[in-house]
Amino acid sequence: MAEAIRQQTYTIYPIIQPGIYPTLKTINFYLIKRPEGIVLIDAGVDSDDCMERLEDTLKQAGADLGDLEAILLTHHHEDHVGLVPRILENRDIPVYAHREAVPRLRLDREFLEMRLAFFKQLYIEMGGGGRGAGRFAKMEQTIRDAAQNAIRTEIIEIGEGDRVFGFEVMETPGHSPDCITFLDTDGRTAFTGDVLIEGSSVNAIIDPAMNGSRLPSVSQQRRSLERLAGLGADVLYTGHHEPVRNTDELVRDRLSRMDRKCEKLLGLIGSGVTVPARITEAYYKDLYRTQFPLVMSEIIGHIDYLEEQGKITKTMEDGVWNYHLS
Ligand SMILES: [Zn+2]
Repeated sequence: MAEAIRQQTYTIYPIIQPGIYPTLKTINFYLIKRPEGIVLIDAGVDSDDCMERLEDTLKQAGADLGDLEAILLTHHHEDHVGLVPRILENRDIPVYAHREAVPRLRLDREFLEMRLAFFKQLYIEMGGGGRGAGRFAKMEQTIRDAAQNAIRTEIIEIGEGDRVFGFEVMETPGHSPDCITFLDTDGRTAFTGDVLIEGSSVNAIIDPAMNGSRLPSVSQQRRSLERLAGLGADVLYTGHHEPVRNTDELVRDRLSRMDRKCEKLLGLIGSGVTVPARITEAYYKDLYRTQFPLVMSEIIGHIDYLEEQGKITKTMEDGVWNYHLS
């Protein structure tokens, strides 16, 4: 069990679950104990092992499941909300999350169908043709299972500047549209989810907003990283791996990686590879076939960023976007 970390007005009990993904060594979430009550920041993965870790940590804090007052979510991804249904079985408590998390947690049918149509159209327009079938099948399954898997408890929407359980909310989107950072009131400590991870480069991921528009994932992620660096916090408690103490250095590294990727993409576009799917194939080789949604997302995000920066422009030819140097 991880050691408790005493702050001035509260105690942090980190819950560290060994990773279930090849690229992530740990999945972290946090029990926060104040004199006023106990809350969770994120909720791990849906496994017996993880549930046991939560119960052991509650015991360590002199509490049990019945003492939990709320779950605060940094974002809706499955490795951050896994135990929510099991916790709610024991006790009906509210979940605090960004408004973009709500239809994703509720598995809102209309939203999920919009999202499926969004990706079908995106892959075609970006030159991916019929690819993405595996992803679409999974999304269709999610829609079919929505009724039994949706989170049904009260979800309280939070956003920039709100205060919850002694934390200030900062919106830090990019990895996901609903990413939130919880900053403690003295500004020395923040819980940042997956915005910046030690030893792993976080992908900005393409996803539609609730209104169906494509969010500028890379420029959002850059701004979120810059905001984290600007906080001047001593430590960031992250969704994976060790806490981050060298925020400035890591942020500079992540931004320069993105810059290098942009330079390579400009090189490819300049050499006449103009369709995003072909750019992705040239850049990622075999991963284009094995990790299609992920690598397409990564390239589309960077292309959107280059377009925003005025470095490239696009034309539609036979229903497919072609990008050109400006
Ligand atoms: Zn994660």
